[in-house]
Amino acid sequence: MSRTLSGVHSRGFDLPQDPPEMAELGHWMKLQQVSDNCFAVLNERNRACDANSGLINLGGGVVIDTQSDLPHARRMIELFGKVWPGMPGRVVNTHEDGDHVWGNQLFEGAEIIAHRTVRDLMPKVADPRETQQLIKAADRFLSRMLLKAVHPGALAIARQLQEDFDFDGIELALPTTVFDERHVLDLEGTEVHLIYVGPCHRVGDTIVHVPKEKVLFAGDVIFRECTPMGWNGSYDRWLKILDLIIWLDPDVIVPGHGPVCGIEGAMEMKAYLEYVRDESSRCFGQGLTSLQASKKIDFGPYGAWHSPARLYVNVERAYRELRNEMKDAPWDRARTFDAIHAVAKARGLEVEF
Ligand SMILES: [Zn+2]
Repeated sequence: MSRTLSGVHSRGFDLPQDPPEMAELGHWMKLQQVSDNCFAVLNERNRACDANSGLINLGGGVVIDTQSDLPHARRMIELFGKVWPGMPGRVVNTHEDGDHVWGNQLFEGAEIIAHRTVRDLMPKVADPRETQQLIKAADRFLSRMLLKAVHPGALAIARQLQEDFDFDGIELALPTTVFDERHVLDLEGTEVHLIYVGPCHRVGDTIVHVPKEKVLFAGDVIFRECTPMGWNGSYDRWLKILDLIIWLDPDVIVPGHGPVCGIEGAMEMKAYLEYVRDESSRCFGQGLTSLQASKKIDFGPYGAWHSPARLYVNVERAYRELRNEMKDAPWDRARTFDAIHAVAKARGLEVEF
């Protein structure tokens, strides 16, 4: 069954035009109305850290995820500002990754809501100083040469992030309200269900369902037209949560990354994960390492997605399960980006994350 989203696009109101000074970021960031009261800001370039945000424009407004840096967060506020009456009083973080929380500080005095684990994990997973230091290292001649020799992938992602973002001035604003399994907001009679679904991509994964509007904000449980990178959790859990999303039967899904979709987006993610798990298992049986497997596995229809070499992360995750390792064993991020870099090079692809 395939669903068209023509209704979503044609339902839009007349939105005011962008001021010219916002043209540069405005080229990539778009506001889209997805139901009567729900909106999305989409980062259409869809490279690493190009996360989406949502707005439920009721009950004083709820913003879902706050972008990767302050210029993007300010641009998001400009775009949502076209339809909201004033800065919203509530922010939801769908998980602990920096690209979803680094604009929190601009919502001064807002209630910031997330799963209980996010408050503890955000300072570890999304410490902005780590990214700032990596970018500084890429800027200095000696450390850049060292990175090039030892961690070419880390250098490559630092350069890409530097092109796309400005991480100056970010200070973590942690959740002020946490919940365990479910949290329900009543916005002028419209219920918003925050459902804990972690760990499938990150420990704190939460989906935001607005049943009355048939809209679901999926966070990074769904990537669209770009290769997912899941850091925590298991394949079984992720597939089960995608089934839950399909069962909830929203008309519109706003994924964490990539364009708005219907439930076909959840089905496609399921198909990708099942495919990678099967292929990984086959390669594991042949005695290949996860890096060798990632250089060999046919991308199939997913080769057209952005950054197909990020496949390595998903193969390594499958290998961790096949080796009966702890699912939440920490990742060495520099080595992980080196591996993605190596996969891209080996397959003759442009190195892009
Ligand atoms: Zn993300």
